[in-house]
Amino acid sequence: MSIPTESIGSIPRPPQLLDALREFRLGNLSHERMEACYDEALSDTILRFEATGSPIISDGEQTKSSFATYPLLGLDNIVQDGVVITFADGHTRQLPKLKKGPFKYGIHAGTYVQSAKRYASAPIKQAVISASALSLLYPQEGIPDYSQATFIDDLVKEAVADIRSCFEQGAHHVQVDFTEGRLSVKLDPTKALLQQFIDLNNRVLGHFTPDQQKRIGVHTCPGGDHDSTHSADVDYADLLPSLFQLNAGNFYMQLASEKNPDYVLGIIKEHIRPHQRVYIGVIDVLNQDVEEPELVRDRVLHAAEYIPVNQLGTTDDCGYSPFEDDTSTGRDVAFAKIKARVAGTALAANKLNI
Ligand SMILES: [Zn+2]
Repeated sequence: MSIPTESIGSIPRPPQLLDALREFRLGNLSHERMEACYDEALSDTILRFEATGSPIISDGEQTKSSFATYPLLGLDNIVQDGVVITFADGHTRQLPKLKKGPFKYGIHAGTYVQSAKRYASAPIKQAVISASALSLLYPQEGIPDYSQATFIDDLVKEAVADIRSCFEQGAHHVQVDFTEGRLSVKLDPTKALLQQFIDLNNRVLGHFTPDQQKRIGVHTCPGGDHDSTHSADVDYADLLPSLFQLNAGNFYMQLASEKNPDYVLGIIKEHIRPHQRVYIGVIDVLNQDVEEPELVRDRVLHAAEYIPVNQLGTTDDCGYSPFEDDTSTGRDVAFAKIKARVAGTALAANKLNI
């Protein structure tokens, strides 16, 4: 027995890949050459991931433009002037907007699993974007002949197909990225928006059997981009009771960078349901210093004072590069942190005799 440990998903792209992308978008690089560059980054990432000793790996999202926008690949009914998200350091990210219906994904995440399988020997975890995040694509002013209700029906179908495609390609775990959960409380303190997001994501999860739901997880964090966050000031007490209503088996939760982990662990203890497992963040991805395995061990042992060990796992607080162009953390640092998490989690399991 051991304590499960998993990454969130993204690893910074190698500089050569970012250079190639720039040239490709300028029209200076052929499609074939671009594909070869993607492949090189993918195989190197998986090799290095497996070298950390991780029991389960991801493709590092090397070929996704971002954790949130990959389904829009190649779509011609999207424009760029959607909802703007402001981060604590003042920088912003603007989401795209749907121009006309019907809404269909340009790619399903199973495609990434299929590519990763060519290089991986460890089980693969695949992240997908939540239906609730993509629900923000529908413009406030509406779309003629394509109602919001019809859009949501199409979105649910596609989000289900996205998760299903991952399982079909053999993904061991699927993680739904729900970073807008915590943000929604900031946007709407009445929490009506949060409840709407929970209900929508449960509509998607309702298409899966209990056994499949056990292999589906949800990631929550205050958003990590260019070493800044968008909703760290939202109290976890406002999010977690609703979060655990999601019919998923696993919860990947930012915790290492929280100011008061005891407080959060207390709330988790109170609201986690018996069939759910929480993977607590033991690595602060916004800090360049690599954690010592002993620090990770102590964080796990501390969490085990609140959470039964058979419901405990560890993770990083967030992905290392959720957006393709975020190079605030280097690949070497990312892999060193993952290695420390794996080693520290094993030390804790040893200490707990499991
Ligand atoms: Zn995150």
